Amino acid sequence: MQFFVFCLCLFMICVGVVLYAQEPANPPRRVLILLGPPGSGKGTQAVQLSKELGIPHISTGDLFRDNLSRNTELGKKAKTYMDAGKLVPDELVLEMLFDRVSKPDCVKGYLLDGFPRTVPQAEALDKHLEKGVQTIALNLVIQDETIIKRIAGRLTCKQGGHVANRFFSPPAAEGVCDICGGELVQRSDDAPDVVKERLRVYHEQTAPLVKFYENKGVLININGENPPDIVFKDLLKALKQL
Ligand SMILES: [Zn+2]
Repeated sequence: MQFFVFCLCLFMICVGVVLYAQEPANPPRRVLILLGPPGSGKGTQAVQLSKELGIPHISTGDLFRDNLSRNTELGKKAKTYMDAGKLVPDELVLEMLFDRVSKPDCVKGYLLDGFPRTVPQAEALDKHLEKGVQTIALNLVIQDETIIKRIAGRLTCKQGGHVANRFFSPPAAEGVCDICGGELVQRSDDAPDVVKERLRVYHEQTAPLVKFYENKGVLININGENPPDIVFKDLLKALKQL
């Protein structure tokens, strides 16, 4: 009888060890990359996803604003390019990004919005990421015509950069941001001909990027033609199925 109890204990210890070994010590860090043309509602989805998943939402616009407002060395460097009307070079954007994602709130993972924009940027990001990091590219697929229609109604908050839409998500009070009370305006670069040019550039740069993530087997296409709440549900569903 004693021998039997001994064997049973031994067996249970073995099972415990096996189960423990299978349980990863740390869940894999997840880097989500949100792809989608300007006007696809990508920014709104990113904010919601970040909240739902409890990971920070990092956009290049926010990185610039943050470094400029804190007057960091990187911010000062970026400013010299911006003041000269030049594009901030990739290396500098990457430095800002890697500085940001080294913060403790990014330990579980983070959501990138507006980066990478090109294949060289995606390659640089890949090189920087440590082994075991799970990269997932979520691609909002949407027709150009839909985008052009949506843009005509887009309103941007001058204070916080929040976005509303005259037709799809009108603010409670006209011209006033629901989130922060800032003034809502139509940006000059939301004019239809400007949008068409931005779409052309987007397709030129992003088509190879979509292919890049597709080849790695980490691309998920989401129908961006649907209303925002459906797109959000589809995004969550796709992530849960992984
Ligand atoms: Zn606002």
